[in-house]
Amino acid sequence: MNIRVLGCHGGELPNFRTTSFLINRHSLLDGGAITGVLSLKEQLGIEHVIITHAHADHCRDTLFLADNIIGAGGKGFRMYGLPVVMQDIRKYLLNWHIWPDFTEIPSKERPVITIQEVENEQAVELDGLRVTLCTVDHTVPAAGVIIEDRSSSVVFSSDTAPTERLWEMASLKSNLKAAFIECSYPDEKNDLAALSKHLTPQLVRGEVAKIGRDVPVYIYHVKPQFHTLITKQLKRGKGIHAEVVRLGQVIRL
Ligand SMILES: [Zn+2]
Ligand SMILES: [Zn+2]
Repeated sequence: MNIRVLGCHGGELPNFRTTSFLINRHSLLDGGAITGVLSLKEQLGIEHVIITHAHADHCRDTLFLADNIIGAGGKGFRMYGLPVVMQDIRKYLLNWHIWPDFTEIPSKERPVITIQEVENEQAVELDGLRVTLCTVDHTVPAAGVIIEDRSSSVVFSSDTAPTERLWEMASLKSNLKAAFIECSYPDEKNDLAALSKHLTPQLVRGEVAKIGRDVPVYIYHVKPQFHTLITKQLKRGKGIHAEVVRLGQVIRL
């Protein structure tokens, strides 16, 4: 499995982009940074977009992706997420007010966006991958994601406060090769992290311990203004073997 980092931050500034990972060539996990990164040809190759939750930093570029595809006469893509998340996308984004409803453009029979609701903890198969969503603890309904191919499994936390079930599910995967864990705020901002249901370096240590196994840890969703501080704090004390992911990085599992 190839994971290309299109965006990996919890906010946007020059040289920082919101969250999106390209899995192999045809699938995206979250859509915070697509259309400003991929070429039009690469965008036309996107067939599947998994959305962890409806916050704008995770779904906004799917709107512009749909617009680019229709202009270029492409086939379109399926969007996957928890039923409540997909209902929010329909209600608040694809509602003809914020953006046209691309689930019925150019026609209801062959739309640019096909929404597929995925139940919690029910695996779905796409592009040779097995994808399982697992509810985590955020300010809105959100799912962590486990993606598997024939030889590897990888877990993504999504945006979350400390959580349990996702790590329990990940720990059962004998071929778990990596854990991508969010870390939005530095330890000093733990009040803000608690309020917004995100993690700090201190909390990340607790989450890593729950996996109960030594797997490479990749940190993402760092708020741009705290990038240096969070990177330093992750190395503090006993430290964990965590790498803060970079834009453009390709991780091969
Ligand atoms: Zn976010
Ligand atoms: Zn969020």
